[in-house]
Amino acid sequence: MIDISELHAGLFIGGTWRDAEQTFTTMNPATAEPLAQLSSADVDDVEDAVAAAAAAFHGAWGATPPSAKGVLLHRLADLVERDCEQLAALESLDMGRPVGQGIAMMIPNFAASLRYYAGWADKINGELVSTDGYFGGPPMHAYIRREPLGVVAAIVPWNAPLMILGWKLAPALACGNTVIVKPAEDASLSILRLAELIDEAGFPPGTVNILPGTGKVAGEALSLHPGVKKISFTGSTEVGRAILRNSAVNFKRTALELGGKAPQIVFDDADVAAAVQGCAMGLFTNQGEVCAAGTRILVHRSVVNDVMDGLRDAALAQVLGDPFDPATTMGPLVNARQRDHVASYLDDFATRGGRFVAGGGVPELPGFFVEPTVVAGTNDMRIAREELFGPVGVIIPFDSDDEAVAMANDNEYGLSATVWTSDVSRAHLISSRIDAGAIGVNGWSPLSPQLPWGGVKASGIGRELGYEGILSYTEPKTVAVVL
Ligand code: NAD
Repeated sequence: MIDISELHAGLFIGGTWRDAEQTFTTMNPATAEPLAQLSSADVDDVEDAVAAAAAAFHGAWGATPPSAKGVLLHRLADLVERDCEQLAALESLDMGRPVGQGIAMMIPNFAASLRYYAGWADKINGELVSTDGYFGGPPMHAYIRREPLGVVAAIVPWNAPLMILGWKLAPALACGNTVIVKPAEDASLSILRLAELIDEAGFPPGTVNILPGTGKVAGEALSLHPGVKKISFTGSTEVGRAILRNSAVNFKRTALELGGKAPQIVFDDADVAAAVQGCAMGLFTNQGEVCAAGTRILVHRSVVNDVMDGLRDAALAQVLGDPFDPATTMGPLVNARQRDHVASYLDDFATRGGRFVAGGGVPELPGFFVEPTVVAGTNDMRIAREELFGPVGVIIPFDSDDEAVAMANDNEYGLSATVWTSDVSRAHLISSRIDAGAIGVNGWSPLSPQLPWGGVKASGIGRELGYEGILSYTEPKTVAVVL
């Protein structure tokens, strides 16, 4: 077990640690006991962080050659891989995920994002453009420069702190920006440890600044600050709206990765066993606290009983308990509020006479656990429309492709979807008709640093990862020389 008393618990600004005037206490969700006391950044701290980040942007980081930026990102990835188990353990302590999942999935994804964008750092080329000349007269030598934005802020949620931070931090740094990170109140520890690794890797002071604190104070101050040129936010739809409003102060660029209520569509020609396995993964990984969780399981009526039986067995096979016990497959939800939020939907569903296939309760365990739950329902039920952010899936039958597509799209969110079919034509046709930023075919949520990620409708605006990530952290500038 890791000794968190040895971790820095303050603010990391301009390459040095300092304490804030206020602190806040975090909880261990598996035991419901206090875990750590951390500094809580205030408006003055945000001011200092923006000044430090701006100094690094115009100073040492701005002067670091592109290939040297790439070397530093690779070095950070080396350190993340070296400390993979420790970083995964810190996240498990904070937010309850079984530690093996962090070691196998979330921390490697973070390192992969760092390496992918390390490769981009010296390949951010502009473009030479052919024109008709200056008002049809003399020719022009015209080109587009891709310039960094300046100081950017990354505001991240608690469900996958480092993985989601990586989607913002790595492209922002590769493009030459400097960064201020605001971790979520419930899960700052792995990001505080990251600050130590950034220091160890040798990034110039002020290139990355870490401000633990509340959304209401530190998060809002960042979104209102005129010195911050972009906010990249992952979190709830409601806070996303507030950030968008606040960003109007200086027309900040915003990337908003918000909620989801992803459909998983199982057609009658699907490999049902594989679909059940994928749907279970999409429901129970990370306790269902996943924006892309496949919580609406739309199933062709001819195979609905098979899928129901399979998902019931998968739910009953989950082992709830200590995130550090290798036998555990599902940990607690992040806090009591989140547990009560999910439980309120289960109570409401039960009160209305809903049919539970598995689970539905809150187990007698000390932490903030909810039973892995599968219900049979319809697409218009509250439990099928709203985001719960917990391990709860709704099985909904359909009779035709058109009906499946209509139901998949009949939701305010549009982050991702999964299509299960053995018919290649159907896979492409259905994928083209679904309103979502990302579609997986015969595999739930295929995340990769090379592939853009983000949503439509209430799931947000903008894309992270892939080449889109480079475009979103640079500003195009046109230069036209009249010859
Ligand atoms: P949240 O919106 O409450 O908090 C996210 C972050 O925003 C935290 O760091 C918080 O401190 C900060 N924040 C809160 N109020 C703020 C304000 N007024 N101004 C600026 N910052 C503020 O969300 P959460 O509960 O931490 O995370 C769960 C949500 O995140 C879910 O809705 C989930 O779907 C979404 N999510 C989306 C993705 C995606 O890629 N689309 C990924 C993970 C999570």
